[in-house]
Amino acid sequence: MRDTDQQTPKDKGQRTTGNGQKITALAGGVGAAKFLLGLTRVMPPENLTIIANTGDDVEHFGLRISPDIDTVTYTLAGVINEATGWGLADDSFECLQWLARYDEATWFNLGDKDFATHIYRTNALKQGKTLSDVTRHISASLGVRSTILPMSDAYTPTRVQTDEGELHFQEYFVRRRCEPQVLEIRFDNIATAKPAHGVLAAIGDADAVVICPSNPFISISPILAVPGIRKALQQTAAQVIAITPIIAGQALKGPAADMLRDLGHEVSARGVAAMYQDFVNLFVLDEADAALQSSIAAFGMQVAVMNTLMKTLADKEQLARRVLALMA
Ligand code: GDP
Repeated sequence: MRDTDQQTPKDKGQRTTGNGQKITALAGGVGAAKFLLGLTRVMPPENLTIIANTGDDVEHFGLRISPDIDTVTYTLAGVINEATGWGLADDSFECLQWLARYDEATWFNLGDKDFATHIYRTNALKQGKTLSDVTRHISASLGVRSTILPMSDAYTPTRVQTDEGELHFQEYFVRRRCEPQVLEIRFDNIATAKPAHGVLAAIGDADAVVICPSNPFISISPILAVPGIRKALQQTAAQVIAITPIIAGQALKGPAADMLRDLGHEVSARGVAAMYQDFVNLFVLDEADAALQSSIAAFGMQVAVMNTLMKTLADKEQLARRVLALMA
């Protein structure tokens, strides 16, 4: 339970109801983007603020790449490559192939159009703009109506300590395809990082905060690790709702289940709920895991059980509608 706030879950989220609700979401990449797309189709997108993970940001070919911000932005702009969940639709890879001729490492896939985003970002940062400025300009230019905030303007790359030594998260994730065993995860420069402008207010002023179905270790933990953010979640009067990223003990994609195991957590939705128990007051559990309901409720959270598998656009909208209904 919250250590700083004595409100019961029932007291939370009662400030406004109906369509005027302000919602803030904590988001990683693909899992989050699916849910957020549904959400923006069933509520006014202007009322949604997204705090995006930048722990998996990387500098590659001299460019600053923000994969989770870009996945969310491209998805909400309707220009994402739907087959992969990242990158731009109808992109080509000529530039990458040409870089290979110069023996550049080409394990990190970047399409030709996608390069433009990273060139723009890198150049703007070099000219003194912040990552927040850059993110706002890119999303506005692509017609996104929700607000996307990086968790921080600081560069705080995730380092994964593995049985093969320490790797940048993208080396572990993309180059080594999540094969090494994970021993520890840390975020560079995190102790001195500040939440980006607007992040704490978005948590404090929201009617509800949603923790998207994202990897808890590499997408949500980096956001929580920015000094002040976890405390803001504990203290907000908003209802804080987490959607499980684990269904029937498995991740739909990526290393979340392996990381739960390797880092000594229970490999289940309950293992994720346990990580969030100090700030979440409502956990959305998949119907496949209905048997876990009472043991998750024992963490002091309400638990809602529903289908959380988002395969089609209709699934995304339905999950979003049902989560919104929990806030009403
Ligand atoms: P990444 O940055 O691409 O790894 O994306 P995220 O961090 O956003 O999330 C990956 C997590 O989202 C994994 O743990 C998946 O199991 C979860 N996920 C992906 N799609 C879905 C879905 O349709 N439903 C649920 N409940 N979780 C999902």
